[in-house]
Amino acid sequence: MRQVTSAVATPAGIIIVGTGFAGLGMAIRLKRAGREDFVVLERAHDLGGTWRDNVYPGCACDIPSELYSFSFERNVRWSRVYPTQPELHAYLRESARKNDLHRHIRFHSEVTEARYDERAASWSVTTRTGETFVAPVLISGMGALSNPAFPDLPGSAGFAGPSFHASRWDHAVDFTGKRVAVIGTGASAVQFVPEIAKFVERLTLFQRTPPWVLPKFDGPIGSRKRRLLRSVPGYAAASRAALYWLLEIRALAFTRAPDILKYAEGLARAHVAKAIVDPALRARVAPHYRMGCKRVLISNDYYPALARENVDVVTQAIERIETSAIVTRDGVRHLVDAIVYATGFRAQDGIAPVRIVGSGGRTLEQAWRDGMSAYLGTSVAGFPNFFLLIGPNTGLGHNSMIYMIESQINYVLAALRTLRRRRARAFDVRPGVQAAFNAKLARKLAGTIWQTGCKSWYLDRNGHNTTLWPDFTFEFRRRTKRIHPRRYVWFA
Ligand code: NAP
Repeated sequence: MRQVTSAVATPAGIIIVGTGFAGLGMAIRLKRAGREDFVVLERAHDLGGTWRDNVYPGCACDIPSELYSFSFERNVRWSRVYPTQPELHAYLRESARKNDLHRHIRFHSEVTEARYDERAASWSVTTRTGETFVAPVLISGMGALSNPAFPDLPGSAGFAGPSFHASRWDHAVDFTGKRVAVIGTGASAVQFVPEIAKFVERLTLFQRTPPWVLPKFDGPIGSRKRRLLRSVPGYAAASRAALYWLLEIRALAFTRAPDILKYAEGLARAHVAKAIVDPALRARVAPHYRMGCKRVLISNDYYPALARENVDVVTQAIERIETSAIVTRDGVRHLVDAIVYATGFRAQDGIAPVRIVGSGGRTLEQAWRDGMSAYLGTSVAGFPNFFLLIGPNTGLGHNSMIYMIESQINYVLAALRTLRRRRARAFDVRPGVQAAFNAKLARKLAGTIWQTGCKSWYLDRNGHNTTLWPDFTFEFRRRTKRIHPRRYVWFA
């Protein structure tokens, strides 16, 4: 067993896992709080999380650039209203460089197990290569959408051509003049389908549930606005705040008054009608569930792409995959040269496949047997000194996840300060506090748009929403600002 000493100046007090927005944001704030005693473990060869992994054509964020960045590491040089993947990845790299994070990061360090030792009050973290890191505090920045989900389709292993998940795009494969199948019509597919439809010979899109798609008000950020952002004191902060409130209003529709969304449904129908003249295709892409129940997508080129002569939208369920075809339930063999799985992520598995072993040898998997749950999406009873960034019920359908991540970072810093002040070695949220918090969440979730009958990755196998925050984000910010010591057990 080896204590962390080589990658950081002093022995590790904190282990962070992951270098996406969550892990990097945590690391920057720790540094600014004067702490250098942390190490960041990253499974890949580069930093960036989602924005390193997702390199599919057209990959971008559907939250405006000005909001989709750290408030404490502002970027005033965005080129577009909505940031693209290369720009976001560059921003994260630059943030790491400016904050001198590289000497804390250990690449090629995929965590397989983290085990809490009650006597030592410390976490022992093992990587795939067999290294062990020990520290009193463990922070997961592993994200909820980092492990691809593949559908269980008979014959898929025997497909002869190239096939890959959208989040692991293989740019070595040239789709020019090829017959390409795309399975799935979620947030990823709507971004790359229009891009590849331009040069593939035929694109067969297998749609199980049509998404609701609204227009995207995108474009380059003009030189005047850029100048204002760069040189007028307070302008960038004011512009960011205005955007925040504009998006935050949507929480009302999602969580309190879902009927408001009926107006937006009309807008989406007009959006389809403008791009697709064929009534049969229009009918095929029309959603039959309430807007907002699944993630609302934004795109100007998705419907025009579906209307192209070389694109087919297949709504029959897939029965099996053969060496060179996808066979649907109606018996049709769709001949294809390549398959892209745009089938989402294993969001309901939490941070599996990492094995987290808490007090008394109980694993997180066991604790979550009946569904994921945490206190404020960050602490889990029985897992002392362990923090989850983007934990259960911290996801959003209406505003920037960076805001939620920053709120959670505030909470972690408050907890660490309180630990020091009380001269405690560990702290653990009381199970009753966690249960009461989740009972209240469940009551709030009952009235939301996400419970109106559709199937989505927001819900677990029992139909419980374990992923989204059912309230305003400023309410989450307020609740994560400080620690209420009586809600925790403190170990001397
Ligand atoms: P997703 O939204 O979960 O979509 C997966 C798609 O695959 C769905 O259309 C699903 O159909 C389909 N599917 C799954 N299994 C299938 C099967 N056996 N046969 C046919 N279709 C199948 O995944 P995603 O597009 O990767 O997006 C995941 C999340 O990542 C998003 O909700 C969003 O939070 C995030 N994301 C964000 C952005 C952004 O711009 N910020 C961009 C991309 C992704 P059903 O709907 O019927 O299940």
